[in-house]
Amino acid sequence: MSRHFFVIGCGQFGAALATRLLGRGYGVTVLDDGFGADRQTPWGWFRRATLQPRSRQPGLIEPMCLPFTRKGPMIISSSRDASRRLWQQWLDGWRGNTDARLLTRQERDEFAIRDRHAILCDSRDFLLDFSSYHAHLMERIHDDRRAVVIPSRMRSFGHRDRTVTRLVTETGNGLRVDDRDTVVFALGNQTTRFFSYPILRIRLPFMDVAPAAGMPSSGVLAWWNETASIQHHEGFTRIGCGLQGRVDALPELRYWHRYMSFLGKTRYAHSGPDVPARLLRAAFTRLGLPPGLWRDDAIRSCVVDATPAFRPIVDFWGRNALVVHGFSGSGFTAHEDWFLRDILDSLENHHRPVPRLRALAPLFSRDDRSFLY
Ligand SMILES: Cc1cc2nc3c(=O)[nH]c(=O)nc-3n(C[C@H](O)[C@H](O)[C@H](O)COP(=O)(O)OP(=O)(O)OC[C@H]3O[C@@H](n4cnc5c(N)ncnc54)[C@H](O)[C@@H]3O)c2cc1C
Repeated sequence: MSRHFFVIGCGQFGAALATRLLGRGYGVTVLDDGFGADRQTPWGWFRRATLQPRSRQPGLIEPMCLPFTRKGPMIISSSRDASRRLWQQWLDGWRGNTDARLLTRQERDEFAIRDRHAILCDSRDFLLDFSSYHAHLMERIHDDRRAVVIPSRMRSFGHRDRTVTRLVTETGNGLRVDDRDTVVFALGNQTTRFFSYPILRIRLPFMDVAPAAGMPSSGVLAWWNETASIQHHEGFTRIGCGLQGRVDALPELRYWHRYMSFLGKTRYAHSGPDVPARLLRAAFTRLGLPPGLWRDDAIRSCVVDATPAFRPIVDFWGRNALVVHGFSGSGFTAHEDWFLRDILDSLENHHRPVPRLRALAPLFSRDDRSFLY
């Protein structure tokens, strides 16, 4: 009997990996309730180069993404001098390897940016309509006769000698896992219901609006600062609240020391049930959007699973399981060719990470931080 894969959780990463596994000829069982209540909805930034560490040179992306991408000026701005200093440091480090640059005052005016500093993103970055692309991947998975899609959630799993032996769905059905099978847990922000990792859960509000007449248009495809963001996709515009959100769950106490600098940031200190509406209202004002675009029933929010180093956690768990989550603000990693290939090669390499993935360790390191703010 040939090797079989179970992919538990089929959001951005689960769907990308399942598609690749099918592409390599494996049989795949996917478990996800499909409603996506806990699924994250990315703004759309595929920020491969800008403000990323040098170790993350932009490489190929999964070619299937391309029809779902848009290119144009993408801008990050801030009035904080500290941000500008960090951006300059980053530019100095990447000298000659990026066309990202700080905008002049005149350019900021032309783009209607009111903050004192702004960086124009590297032209290799783009917007991806993650939701449509995910729907496309799910269609491919459903159409593949080697795929079994179970529309349910995992309630628990059994293991013996660090080998996963059984998966139990919410309806109480048990799925037997053979010795040679592999289980990939791609549960996103639900991972810590089953495993212990240092994760901070932050709820970020957003609203999709129709691109309407009266929308401030300054030739920017996407823009964000600490309090607001706007992303123009094909057929809809997504409004977000920048880096503002509500802490939904703190990490376990034993991981708190990794978050000391992070927890001091007031932008995550909001509390109360009206937070999404309040932050979105402020973003609307900040962006100068016409009030007619506001719809109470369109307020949405979802939870990001932030890690201390803002890098995904890739853990080859036990003998036959892999846990991947914590993409924080870099969900696009799930669709980078090198990442998917390294994961697959590692799984085929007797469940051992290939050197480049090993280089990501120690996964909780603090020195490879994102340079954003
Ligand atoms: C508001 C917001 C904006 C973001 N913007 C960006 C951006 O612009 N660019 C970017 O690169 N990243 C962005 N991110 C991050 C990105 O969305 C995530 O990193 C990415 O979606 C993570 O992929 P994932 O597969 O780990 O999780 P998800 O895509 O959330 O998938 C997890 C899946 O697991 C399923 N699941 C959960 N529990 C169970 C269970 N018990 N049994 C079975 N299935 C289960 C869920 O239904 C879901 O389908 C953003 C995140 C948020 C919250």
